[in-house]
Amino acid sequence: MWKKVTLSIFLIILFLSPALSWSAHREMTEIILKDLDWLKKYRDITVTAYTYHDTSPYNPSYIIPYRGEKIGDKIDAITIITRYVTEPDMGMDENINLNSMQKLTGGSSGWRHQYYILFGGTLKLGEAPKRIIHFWNLAKEAFQKNDYYWGFRFFAYSLHYLQDLTQPFHAYPMPLGNAIVNIFNLEKLIAQGENHHYTLEDYQEWQIINKNPIYIQTIKKAQPHKVDNPEEAGIKAAWEARKDAGKLWEIQSKYFPRINDNKNYKAPKELFSKPSQLREEYDKIILHNLENFAGWTKGYLEFLKITLDKLNEVSGK
Ligand SMILES: [Zn+2]
Repeated sequence: MWKKVTLSIFLIILFLSPALSWSAHREMTEIILKDLDWLKKYRDITVTAYTYHDTSPYNPSYIIPYRGEKIGDKIDAITIITRYVTEPDMGMDENINLNSMQKLTGGSSGWRHQYYILFGGTLKLGEAPKRIIHFWNLAKEAFQKNDYYWGFRFFAYSLHYLQDLTQPFHAYPMPLGNAIVNIFNLEKLIAQGENHHYTLEDYQEWQIINKNPIYIQTIKKAQPHKVDNPEEAGIKAAWEARKDAGKLWEIQSKYFPRINDNKNYKAPKELFSKPSQLREEYDKIILHNLENFAGWTKGYLEFLKITLDKLNEVSGK
């Protein structure tokens, strides 16, 4: 009975919660790529037309863009990856019929960018790990055809979904206890869920954009997480991120007065930089997850390097 009730609460929350991800994918990825000398060797890559047959559906009104470069131009790998790591958030996954349950994750985009692990793993919603491997396979196909532009671009798409899964609220939307306490006030629950998502993003983005040294250093110093299979890496990332959703919720509830009261809560910016013990605790949890963001990003880039090295060996480059 309880399982049924809580499940239905979750489904209603999920239905109305927005699909979000870390903010500043581009800025954080840039910090990591800057240190990779092997990647800098991939320069003078010719920008090519799109010639792939992607069997997965796209938003019908999405037209494949070139965001700055033109076909025939030369470009380097770091620019391609940083420019396109945000592309999956630019509309390609919206307005598609993917799954009868997609409404529960906020539509088709939410379905593709999240992987909610509920009830200890008995219910999982979303297919972000599948998107990781989908674009990895396309990247491999492109590299094998010597089309390095699309190889790196598909890799950037794939990386986006892996990075998304290091965000705790991508893997677990709200502590169950909170859902139960507010069982008869769904509107409030929904507002709370949105507030916590947006506040985490606003706060984290502010630290990155304002170059908070502990944030930048955490990303720089993170050790790579070994990737053997990109899809499995995404699932592991989500299981890890999920653990911190409850703690984050609890701290945000204390640190941001009224976050649980009003709809469309906007955190006061002065709280983003004011020193306090609670803020230190808050930072610690976010940094733990950003360390995973950077660790998985670095591990995935190492995985890419191994694949490219093998290809170069075969072609005698
Ligand atoms: Zn996303």
